[in-house]
Amino acid sequence: MARTPPARTYRGTARNLARLAACLRAGDLVAVPTETVYGLAAHALDARACARIFRAKGRPASDPLIVHLHSVRQLGLVCLPNAAAHRLARAFWPGPLTLVLPKTPAVPAIVTSGRDSVAVRVPRHPLFRRLLRLAGVPLAAPSANPFGYISPTTAEHVRQGLGGKIRHILDGGPASIGLESTIVDLRDPSRPAVLRPGAITAEQIARVLGRRVAAPQPAAAQPGAQVAPGLLARHYSPRTPLVLHKKVPAALRGRAPANEAFLLQRQPRGAASAAHVFWLDATGDLPGVARRLFAMLRRLDAQGFVRIHAELAPDRGLGRAINDRLRRAAAR
Ligand code: AMP
Ligand code: MG
Repeated sequence: MARTPPARTYRGTARNLARLAACLRAGDLVAVPTETVYGLAAHALDARACARIFRAKGRPASDPLIVHLHSVRQLGLVCLPNAAAHRLARAFWPGPLTLVLPKTPAVPAIVTSGRDSVAVRVPRHPLFRRLLRLAGVPLAAPSANPFGYISPTTAEHVRQGLGGKIRHILDGGPASIGLESTIVDLRDPSRPAVLRPGAITAEQIARVLGRRVAAPQPAAAQPGAQVAPGLLARHYSPRTPLVLHKKVPAALRGRAPANEAFLLQRQPRGAASAAHVFWLDATGDLPGVARRLFAMLRRLDAQGFVRIHAELAPDRGLGRAINDRLRRAAAR
């Protein structure tokens, strides 16, 4: 098989967007910026194009893809929306919310891993939106990383992971949210359930729907088990072993050898901290923690530490999504 020439990174000029939209329509892969993490996009109604996504990522065929639309008006093309879907769409789209709904025959089986439901989202990132409009077709896109590794939040992360496997990367700057979308199962609208926590919380969804929303089980509660399609206990993982702590005691930091890293939620008070102590946000502000989490895990993974001790976020709101990713990253 012919080797893929190294990836080229494009700025979002009108010319580049038109060119990349044409590539997508022709069945090529393009890595795209989104507000959650970078995605690896292909024409969602073209089974051969979607097969390329699985090959480039080394993703098992059993893990379905999310279909991205430019507008809620395209919903009927790929799924059978219900009233609950329209409500959540009005409240949260464009944005980091994915809905699972019964699919139409237009969606190839490879996209849904043979299921009769499809995951759909209208994203918010302005460049991705322009590309979706120019392409004029729904785009299937999982995170643009080799399967199982930490999701990419910059174009450079995509190049490092997939640079030899894909040809086009659209650079839209660092992802503003930094965690994958919230996924809500709406197949039975009377029993909505969050399959994957994200920036939009179960409480926000419950408020809009006016009913209880089942929350996902914490990742660590099912070692090795696959709760929902694609939701493997181990995912988003650095190669360096990760140990989680509710709170990292200052004494532990003090006596640990320099080849063990400490990743705190916030900047420690008092004494100047050691070279192996890192934090995600100066004040522990959760959106800041979420935005920097994956880039920081990559950075620490590249530094040759024998172990990373990471502190969990408070278990509420966005903290639940942050902790979900930390637990999956730590699962062995
Ligand atoms: P990724 O795009 O890599 O962040 O992962 C997409 C995730 O969406 C999958 O791993 C599944 O958890 C979920 N998903 C996609 N399609 C479906 C579906 N039809 N039913 C349930 N979950 C889905
Ligand atoms: Mg992924």
